[in-house]
Amino acid sequence: MKEKNNRAKKIEDFTPAEQRAARGARVEVSDAEPYGWMAHSEADPERVYHLYCEPQSKRLVCTCADFVYRGDAEPGYECKHVSAVLKYIGRRYLQYQYDPRRQYERAA
Ligand SMILES: [Zn+2]
Repeated sequence: MKEKNNRAKKIEDFTPAEQRAARGARVEVSDAEPYGWMAHSEADPERVYHLYCEPQSKRLVCTCADFVYRGDAEPGYECKHVSAVLKYIGRRYLQYQYDPRRQYERAA
C-alpha cells in the first residue's frame, strides 16, 4: 500500500548556505571597538574574527578565510559569522531601537 501521509517528509538536502546559517547558531558574538562586531571561531574560541558594515554596499564583511576567499566570488555570500552577527544585530535592534511608530509612519 502506498504511503499517503507526506507531512513528515524530511528535508534532507540543506544547501551549503543553510548549513552555514545553522552553524552560525553556535558562534558567539560581541560588540567590537571602535566599530563592528567580533565573532569567535567555532573550532578555536581564542580566534576572533572582525565583522563590520561596508559603507558602500551596506553589507557585512568578515575577516575569516571563508569569507575572504569566497565572499567576492559568490554574490551575497554569507559565512557562518555573518549569519550569527545578523541575528545578534536583529535582537539588539528589537531590544533597544525598534519603534513600532516608524513602521506605522511608513505604512501611512
Ligand atoms: Zn566569517
